[in-house]
Amino acid sequence: MGSLLLRGGRIDGARLDLAMRDGRIERIGGNLPAAGYEVLDVPDRLVLPGFVETHIHPDKAFIADRTEGLRAGGPTAQTLVAELKKAFTVEDVYRRARRVIELAVRHGCTAMRAHVEIDALVELRAVEALRRLQADVAGILDLRLIAFAQEGIFHDAVTRDLLREALKAGLATLGGCPYMDADQRAHIDWFFDTAEAFGVPLDFHADSADDPAMLTSDYIAEQTVARGMQGRVSVGHLCMLDVLEPAHRARVVERLREAQIHVVSLPATELHVKGRADARRTWRGITRIAELRAAGVNVSISTNNVVNPFTPYGHPDLLRQALITAMAAHLGNLDQLAWLPELITINPARALGLADYGLAEGRRADLVVLDAPDAAQAITEQAEKLYVIKGGRVVARSTRRSELAPGLAG
Ligand SMILES: [Zn+2]
Repeated sequence: MGSLLLRGGRIDGARLDLAMRDGRIERIGGNLPAAGYEVLDVPDRLVLPGFVETHIHPDKAFIADRTEGLRAGGPTAQTLVAELKKAFTVEDVYRRARRVIELAVRHGCTAMRAHVEIDALVELRAVEALRRLQADVAGILDLRLIAFAQEGIFHDAVTRDLLREALKAGLATLGGCPYMDADQRAHIDWFFDTAEAFGVPLDFHADSADDPAMLTSDYIAEQTVARGMQGRVSVGHLCMLDVLEPAHRARVVERLREAQIHVVSLPATELHVKGRADARRTWRGITRIAELRAAGVNVSISTNNVVNPFTPYGHPDLLRQALITAMAAHLGNLDQLAWLPELITINPARALGLADYGLAEGRRADLVVLDAPDAAQAITEQAEKLYVIKGGRVVARSTRRSELAPGLAG
């Protein structure tokens, strides 16, 4: 494996060199010797650890053109996609999911945990496609898979067996969706029982709606502690936090913190899907990101959907998600813009339990170099990803360049 030297990048606010060898960060410091290295000059360009997706659906990406999408009084995104899923073939899923992964890598992603739908409609066809893809992209992306029950588990007699089969086949995380079953607690109990039996972490789509009576994240937190699974449970969406009374919300946030639940906000999807049936107000559905963070909860953001009825303009570019989040969640002051990158780097890495992640000597050399000196400018200008580096090797680079026409540049 080659040796690479990033020359003069911005690392934790200082201008430093970063040397990589054998897939690891070898040294970070000023004026490192270049002999024996391929040198990439990145003067005052922001160097971040590679972006990490914790919640994304490559199996149902790029199907927006197969349906009319959401309209007033029409079917939900779940209903539209459930119908389309019946026709998914292994090849079809593989081709669309591969497109998602290549886009994500080009935009700085070096690790991803993806949901793979398993139910009576698609059976194990998406599992087969994603497992093949996982092997095919191993050199450019750590791809982890969640056996996910988008349609619930109590509507048919096969989904629970198929989920167990997928875990036996090697999928390393189990994913539930309580609001798809009438008895949410029974759903949650089955997932904890099964996760314990297989020794795998859990990831729930939970509290996606705006009716506080449907709240489940407090029960998920309670079960996490009761079963000693602290730090091994993630919850995506959590939109309902936003409609709780402040004192109730504070109690739920405290329980999430105690249970070491990883929260994953999905702003692009919430902005498209939420508040559609309410004639009085258009609730935007983003969870309370700043409050969760201030309370000490590990909170991330993720892409969720890519070009389907849930998010027709979805794109696996986490820098774009950071800008959407800044706009949608009132996170625009200088302090907030400075910490927003945590939501797409170290926080999701913690949620996934990624070993040796981050910008420090000895860690894995998974990096992204942005064409901006700091996070605020990178987010605001949606800076180019100059280099995406995976295991000390350049896996993507920006070749785009625009400039003012001659005579206008001054
Ligand atoms: Zn999702």
